Amino acid sequence: MAERKVRVRFAPSPTGALHIGGVRTALYNYLFARQHDGKLIFRIEDTDSSRFVPGAEEYILESFKWLGIQFDEGVTFGGEYGPYRQSERREIYKKYVQVLLDNGKAYIAFDTPEELNAKRAEIANFQYDASTRGTMRNSLTLSKEEVEALIAAGKQYVVRFKVTPNEDVHISDLIRGEVVINSSILDDKVLYKSADQLPTYHLANIVDDHLMEVTHVIRGEEWLPSAPLHVLLYRAFGWEDTMPQFAHLPLLLKPEGNGKLSKRDGDRLGFPVFPLEWHDPKTGEVSSGYRESGYLPEAVINFLALLGWNPGNDQELMSMDELIQLFNLQRCSKSGAKFDYKKGIWFNHQYIQKKPNEEIAKLFLPILKEHGVEAPFDKVVTVVGMMKGRVSFVRELWDAAGFFFVAPTEYDEKTVKKRWKEDSAKCMTELAEVLSGIEDFSIEGQEKVVMDWIAEKGYHTGNVMNAFRLTLVGEGKGPHMFDISWVLGKEETLARMKRAVEVLK
Ligand code: GLU
Repeated sequence: MAERKVRVRFAPSPTGALHIGGVRTALYNYLFARQHDGKLIFRIEDTDSSRFVPGAEEYILESFKWLGIQFDEGVTFGGEYGPYRQSERREIYKKYVQVLLDNGKAYIAFDTPEELNAKRAEIANFQYDASTRGTMRNSLTLSKEEVEALIAAGKQYVVRFKVTPNEDVHISDLIRGEVVINSSILDDKVLYKSADQLPTYHLANIVDDHLMEVTHVIRGEEWLPSAPLHVLLYRAFGWEDTMPQFAHLPLLLKPEGNGKLSKRDGDRLGFPVFPLEWHDPKTGEVSSGYRESGYLPEAVINFLALLGWNPGNDQELMSMDELIQLFNLQRCSKSGAKFDYKKGIWFNHQYIQKKPNEEIAKLFLPILKEHGVEAPFDKVVTVVGMMKGRVSFVRELWDAAGFFFVAPTEYDEKTVKKRWKEDSAKCMTELAEVLSGIEDFSIEGQEKVVMDWIAEKGYHTGNVMNAFRLTLVGEGKGPHMFDISWVLGKEETLARMKRAVEVLK
């Protein structure tokens, strides 16, 4: 068989916000597609109308736009295999359901919910399968005429897949290797419901993967139990030659490693589990997102890429282009990946350091504005360059560096007690005079003159600098003193010193 061009898909159901695990699935599909010069399809699996949530599709698209994951085909992107929204493909599925009915791989069942419940009450662990289907109301037990009469009378029915029992189903998974499951554990899954004239997930998923010529199905571990049924469906259609290769990704685990990551873990430990803030239209609940929490998209991508995959060495920082080069399904782990959200914070710190100061400054401007500060861009860039090493989020720059933009109005009591000595006022008045005489107010220019003056006076350098810091910052924090006074400029530096001396005496 000729080598097929790689085609993969991300196929969410629009049932709410996209979980961070879904983002990782989409990312791996994207990396795989790019690496193989293939195509990534965006398909919406919305055949379960009862779970449809308005706004979810738009939310998912916006998330990927923010993260820089691009699709080649699909809903809103177009392509030759459309429509890509399953609710717009009803007629296609009907045709394929009929194919299975015609070749005896599926059958019609009329059992009402009440009848099914009665069976469940009667038989422990009841399963609709080869052992029970002969006792139910379906096209295998009813005559052709009875079936036609029931349909003509408008009775609702479902189409079920006829699973042959006691057959080993082999799934070759690119991550897990060969998985074998006996068909007897499978039930005769519903493939289609007359009530809404829509197929279920299983049928629509297989038909679309086939028609869209999907070559690899890369998805979360939670879909592994569906894989045997999917393999049997491909066979029932006679499509085994073009059956996609499966790769079931490892589960994302709680940060502590005990069990599956859930939204509650995020609430409990204070990290987002959604890419963007999500406003639940039903409950009105608002859930935090990575974007609104101040994460850079590059950091989120890098962080997620390493949850369940590694490049084979201890390299951690990788751009999207590097990830495309290095990604490899064989290096994905089988066992679950602990969601170490602190590592996510670490990545954000790293990407803030990597990003040009100008770009971080642009992100800092709106935060400054929130605090009523409008500063020259050059100054913001300089401050960012001096201070970004201390933060993991841009918004933390305000706490760390706000004093560059707003003079202290009060002086931290503890620092005053510790750092403001009897002679500090006098010393600062002298220092102000020394500074006012300096023409070259650069960092080095100030340093030389001030150090000479301290030596000449026989002052204690630490005491002078601590008091100096208190006058400019209002507390004991901040970078090197002359970095601060240089950014503030001579005039502002002298004004702050004067005021501190007045207030602290
Ligand atoms: N619609 C499924 C989901 O919501 C797709 C599963 C698959 O990729 O086959 O994840």
